[in-house]
Amino acid sequence: MILVLQQNATNAQIEALQAQMHARGLITQDITGEHTHMMGLAGDVSGVDADTLLRSEVIERVIKVSEPYKLAGRRFHPGDTAISVGGATVGGGSLAVMAGPCSVESEEQILSIARDVKNAGASFLRGGAFKPRSSPYSFQGLGLDGLELLKTASEKTGLPVVTEIMSQAHLADFEREVDVIQIGARNMQNFPLLRDVGALGKPVLIKRGASASIDELLMAADYVLMGGKSPVILCERGIRTFETATRNTLDISAVPVLKEKSHLPVIVDPSHGTGHWRLVEPMAMAAVAAGCDGLMIEVHGSPETALCDGQQSVTPALFHRLMGRVKEIHALLHGKEGENYAG
Ligand code: PEP
Ligand code: MN
Repeated sequence: MILVLQQNATNAQIEALQAQMHARGLITQDITGEHTHMMGLAGDVSGVDADTLLRSEVIERVIKVSEPYKLAGRRFHPGDTAISVGGATVGGGSLAVMAGPCSVESEEQILSIARDVKNAGASFLRGGAFKPRSSPYSFQGLGLDGLELLKTASEKTGLPVVTEIMSQAHLADFEREVDVIQIGARNMQNFPLLRDVGALGKPVLIKRGASASIDELLMAADYVLMGGKSPVILCERGIRTFETATRNTLDISAVPVLKEKSHLPVIVDPSHGTGHWRLVEPMAMAAVAAGCDGLMIEVHGSPETALCDGQQSVTPALFHRLMGRVKEIHALLHGKEGENYAG
């Protein structure tokens, strides 16, 4: 629900209205346009009666929001959101590339890949310490030791770190050690985890569940945003379809759909999206051409010996070439760094 406020509403009146809504357990969002002042209401608005609200002299009009997500939607936040973290920015016309191995395997491995991806122009280091493996017999990640190694690599290269959390038991560790907290596809609908991560105040990257619709992804984002502290980055990483030629079907159309529906930055992961290293570069280019704000790419120094996802990991040399190509495509759409020619 959106309340359009009277032009002459005073700050005191608006604050009183806000307090009234908070007392009903609702979340309010200030939506200020050039000539309009509006207040978005999220939460259980079933008990809020529009006619009763209109009796208030502060409220001019009540608009019902039909979308099932609110805080992630453009109705509540018309302008694009850009998120700055550790000297890097996601959204706002830049191209943020998060690159690194599927899993942290050793200090030597993560340091060497971190240096490689930084030299190639990546702005974040990715790497899994807690791995959501389908088989309980597969390598499960280095856990807390992995987080320490990521931190060391971050300190040595200056790259902020993005890595996946799987359990509430590690909230404090992630709060301390990590720059962007990743919610993996398998946990996209782990609602208690989403809420708790949203209370930390760190940027959260949410990957689309393999069987999740776009609206479900945006509702997951609302779970995090409800905490009022943590900004969200959305990630398309492929969905399950009948097609078996690729590991998942990368839904490139999700990029313009998400950009239309949501103000949040959208990145694409062509590594998990395809499952094949040869397909990573063409799909990265397609994603950038479709208007995404960034990419997540798995890179490994020797993919044939990787402990996880070697088949979809590109070598540092290929990553370097990919970066050159995606930057060219991005420049075609957005102009040079800092200029935005996109329509
Ligand atoms: C990952 O990024 O390492 C990962 C496991 O991805 P997803 O959750 O998309 O499968
Ligand atoms: Mn992986």
